[in-house]
Amino acid sequence: MHELGLLTGVIGAAKKAAGDRPILRVALRVGTRSGVVEDALYAAWQVVGEGELVLELIPATVFCPSCACEQEIDEFFALTCPACGTPTADLRHGREFEITYVDLATDP
Ligand SMILES: [Zn+2]
Repeated sequence: MHELGLLTGVIGAAKKAAGDRPILRVALRVGTRSGVVEDALYAAWQVVGEGELVLELIPATVFCPSCACEQEIDEFFALTCPACGTPTADLRHGREFEITYVDLATDP
């Protein structure tokens, strides 16, 4: 369960930014192909987190050279365009794992 290690890094960064102020909420942007499991993230947050965990799931997309646009792909599908079937490994989204914001309690 590498989610625990990932979140240990996240909470460490959030605490560093927060200083002495309590953390109310941490928001993460997580791609559906980033290799982390949503449920495991919430479970790990119970162990190492502080405040509320907010996850924004980013659907995986590939750029299709035939359609000349990004197409959303199912996380379990092979890397082919869902519209025309052209093989493409040009993954544009879905590997995100980043902090979008941290809400802190206001100073007393
Ligand atoms: Zn296509």
